[in-house]
Amino acid sequence: MGSKHKCSICNKETSNEFFGMKEWAIEGTLCTDCYAKKLGEFYPGEHVRVNKD
Ligand SMILES: [Zn+2]
Repeated sequence: MGSKHKCSICNKETSNEFFGMKEWAIEGTLCTDCYAKKLGEFYPGEHVRVNKD
């Protein structure tokens, strides 16, 4: 009963509930994968390589 959440990005059901930052413009919850991905996109660190040309 409603203990699962659907990821707003990939629509996967997730038991983890992550909320995006305001500047991500994402409503609802995110799964672990999408949250990590977004983090990497918005706050690329040395450990995350994103090729965007
Ligand atoms: Zn997801």
